[in-house]
Amino acid sequence: MDDLNRALLEWLATWLPITELGSGLRYAIGIGAACMAILMVFERRAGVSLEQYASRRFLTDVLYRLVFVVYIVMLYTPLSVATREAFPWMRVELLSSAPLWIGIPAYLLIFDFLSYWIHRAQHSRIWWRFHRVHHSQEQLTFATGYRNHPIDQAFAHTVTFIPLLLLGTPAVSWLPYSFLLAFIDATHHANLPWRFGWARKILVSPVFHATHHSTDPAVRDTNFGGLFSFWDFLFGTAVDAERRPERTGVEGWRVRERWLSHLVSPFRRDAVIESAGANVRAATERE
Ligand SMILES: [Zn+2]
Ligand SMILES: [Zn+2]
Repeated sequence: MDDLNRALLEWLATWLPITELGSGLRYAIGIGAACMAILMVFERRAGVSLEQYASRRFLTDVLYRLVFVVYIVMLYTPLSVATREAFPWMRVELLSSAPLWIGIPAYLLIFDFLSYWIHRAQHSRIWWRFHRVHHSQEQLTFATGYRNHPIDQAFAHTVTFIPLLLLGTPAVSWLPYSFLLAFIDATHHANLPWRFGWARKILVSPVFHATHHSTDPAVRDTNFGGLFSFWDFLFGTAVDAERRPERTGVEGWRVRERWLSHLVSPFRRDAVIESAGANVRAATERE
């Protein structure tokens, strides 16, 4: 029986990257827990409610975070490796070989510039059906950044795949660096009233990104920046609000708070309801 178990495990290990999956999940849980602990202290000090952490909506965000690790380990990384092996000319890796003081800022700038334009495309008519899953969160939590429909995620990664392969990523295996990036990313969806003072014209603050999650469609199509807000100020898409919006979510559209419901939502037909002269879309989910 032991032999059978061992053989089965060995067979599984040949096609399932169990070790990478394990360390990826440990890393995500560790960094996520540290971000949550720090942000909860700040949220508490800011006097905002912490009730979102006791909701199903927060658990869905956490589930998305774990699914993201599986996606990176099982699909994205093997695809990158296979592409590099199939096309050796792609191994230019400009930034991996550059000194870190050039490599890190250049990588962040180029990657964020691409992200800005991709995010604008995500708000276009066709892509929005998938991207609105990210906007479906009505109680933003630090983990909402990972709430993305897999097709939305895959589209975005497909566009950046070749440029990022050619550029390579700066070879930094320094934990404080990855933690700082993860923490900044987590602040974008945290329930905080921070605007970052004068630095708000450079960096995306919690208020700046929360404005993007407003239920008001006019405001929703602004503030597309990922890490840097100056793209929005440069290209005329910034709304420099003083405080967080009253409500976040998608006006006129609700999806059941289940991962599977999110998954099928872009393929369901939405009813168009005439309401006070305005077209309001409403979900036709009958579950
Ligand atoms: Zn968006
Ligand atoms: Zn967001």
